[in-house]
Amino acid sequence: MPSKAKKYDCVVIGSGPGGAPFAWKLASSGMKVLVLEAGARYNPLKDYALADLDWETKGFPYRKRIRVAYGKAQNLDSQYEKLKSWNLGSGTFNKTDQRKYLMYQQVPGVGGTTLHYQGEAHRLNEKAFRMKTLFGVAVDWPIEYKDLEPYYTSVENIIGVAGPEKVPFRSRTKPYPLKPHDLSYSSQVVNKGCNKLGINIEPNTVAILSEVYRDAPPCNYCNGCVWGCPRKDKGSVDVTFVPLAEDTGNCEILPFAFAEKIEVDKKSGKVKGVTYFDQAKKEHFVEADYVAVACGAVETPKLLLNSELNGSGNVGKNFMETNFYEAVAFHPERTDSYRGIPIDGIIWEWNDPDPKRGFPGGLRMFPTVGSAVGPLNYALRYYRKGWGEDLANGMKNTFGHAISVGGISEFLPNDNSFVTLDPDKKDEFGFPVASIQSFLGEPELKSLDFMQKKTKEILESSGAGEIVEQSSSYDLFAATHVFGTCRMGNDPANSVVDSSLRYHGIPNLLVTDASVFPTSGGGEAPSLTIEALSLRSAELLLESIKKG
Ligand SMILES: Cc1cc2nc3c(=O)[nH]c(=O)nc-3n(C[C@H](O)[C@H](O)[C@H](O)COP(=O)(O)OP(=O)(O)OC[C@H]3O[C@@H](n4cnc5c(N)ncnc54)[C@H](O)[C@@H]3O)c2cc1C
Ligand code: SF4
Repeated sequence: MPSKAKKYDCVVIGSGPGGAPFAWKLASSGMKVLVLEAGARYNPLKDYALADLDWETKGFPYRKRIRVAYGKAQNLDSQYEKLKSWNLGSGTFNKTDQRKYLMYQQVPGVGGTTLHYQGEAHRLNEKAFRMKTLFGVAVDWPIEYKDLEPYYTSVENIIGVAGPEKVPFRSRTKPYPLKPHDLSYSSQVVNKGCNKLGINIEPNTVAILSEVYRDAPPCNYCNGCVWGCPRKDKGSVDVTFVPLAEDTGNCEILPFAFAEKIEVDKKSGKVKGVTYFDQAKKEHFVEADYVAVACGAVETPKLLLNSELNGSGNVGKNFMETNFYEAVAFHPERTDSYRGIPIDGIIWEWNDPDPKRGFPGGLRMFPTVGSAVGPLNYALRYYRKGWGEDLANGMKNTFGHAISVGGISEFLPNDNSFVTLDPDKKDEFGFPVASIQSFLGEPELKSLDFMQKKTKEILESSGAGEIVEQSSSYDLFAATHVFGTCRMGNDPANSVVDSSLRYHGIPNLLVTDASVFPTSGGGEAPSLTIEALSLRSAELLLESIKKG
């Protein structure tokens, strides 16, 4: 289906946390907005598998549309060999001495990757905006925490964030709209172990309803957020900003519309519209006064590069991924860790950036359900012989006993990590696909090492037995948070967009997704910050239009 009109005030490409808040803000001011979305539109009440008997085999009803390629693989530094990912069921996953590209986890669909996110909603640590000034690494953001604070508050109220009164290292002007969730029994057991070590688990800040809000009931603690929430309790973009945008009557959302080229008027140097393909692979051109690109930090540089838009050579540089470690062990007591929300608590102890730890960036650690979501995962992952009597006895004695602790830390940009176009591989419309190359630097390796040490201490102190699974980004690339490929900055020589997210040199082109992060912001979940940046950018654009 083509769009209803041939010309719009603004075309937004991508309907995730970078695109939808921007579309809503513009549409609510009366501008006519079209959102092009490559993926499908899902109905939470019908399409998700959590009510099916075989839910555990199904996952998110993901229809693959985004193809990517990968660049060179990093040689593994053997002094960190102990960080390799493994479980009792399969042994070591990556038996080579090179880092393996497993997957880039993006969901194409109305709502973007938040469709199967876990609802964590974090403000960044205030110091994470100033890594260059404070610690001499990477770059500073061209804005500070205080510039984003009012937008954080707006987004938290719209999506419905539950959180405690105070969260360390970030100030707030208004309380969270919803009371925090209680820690699950399993997290309480881990917290007792933490307390013995002098640390504490605080309630996480999550876009998961703890009370009736947005016309949705409170969460039922089924732990199935990554399958897609059938109750609309999780504040994914499809049930928050998308309906708000459509309710204005000024915003049209077009699923299965794959944008392939941003068209620039050679005379004026301004963007004049977008070429996209519909589900029947028919090509269309739609004209627009403004174009905002929000395809995620991999597809956004692909679209810009295929449109021959590369600023001063910075598009695709500074790719950053998720630096992640997690381990699962059995507790003698049955804690039923599969109940609850995926990550209900946080240890903020090491969140402040501090080079004294051997690496500059901050991190956060948490108790989590890990892979222990149901019997199938137990059977396939946690027993050396996954069948027969061993399996039956194993399941009888250990189901519900798995406890898991993990952490995510800052990933600093480096010259070996970037997104470029693959010269050989093409997407379904014949355009070169994005190629991701990502290498871990010394700070990333050291922080993984640190998180492994702390995880072991916490599991041990909590009374857990031997570890049965370890997953880490040391040897596997499976990024869920990606950033940086269209850096925001004041200097066009080393950035792509300015602090209001306008492309340097083309005032009617904007980039409003995770691509604009100058640094990864510590180990925090990024969607809240993406949404706050997107709202701020739309507001600044409206102000400048008003001024003429
Ligand atoms: C398993 C998992 C768990 C996560 N948990 C959390 C969490 O708890 N909290 C959190 O904050 N973050 C979480 N994240 C990360 C979060 O979902 C992403 O960081 C965030 O969605 C990125 O937003 P974005 O707007 O940059 O891109 P996306 O959300 O990926 O949106 C981009 C959209 O653009 C569309 N698109 C791409 N190319 C084109 C094109 N050419 N034409 C038209 N449309 C296009 C895509 O289909 C997609 O819908 C998680 C991610 C995963 C995978
Ligand atoms: S845990 Fe809560 S938010 Fe997540 S899928 Fe279940 S009901 Fe929805």
